[in-house]
Amino acid sequence: MATDYDAPRRGAEDEDAESIEEVKAAAATKKSQSPEVDEDETLVAETFELPGADLSHESLDITVIPQQPDEFVCSSCFLVHHHAAAVQPGATVCRDCA
Ligand SMILES: [Zn+2]
Repeated sequence: MATDYDAPRRGAEDEDAESIEEVKAAAATKKSQSPEVDEDETLVAETFELPGADLSHESLDITVIPQQPDEFVCSSCFLVHHHAAAVQPGATVCRDCA
């Protein structure tokens, strides 16, 4: 038996008496509707655009400076530090990682 969701709601007593077949039918109805819902969600996702998300026309205007002679790469965090940030002179571990 299909459930008419537009019909006025029955009393609580009647709902308690609902048979397992009615519950199964309601679940099947719900299941058959789900692909349609997924389709709508996909359509929404395809048409949805974040404001400013298209950065294809943007260019990177940051100048990348290679490692300088007075800098070292920490062997633990792999960040480039000035030699003054080393634990000891000549060490390859920064103070943050020591
Ligand atoms: Zn480090």
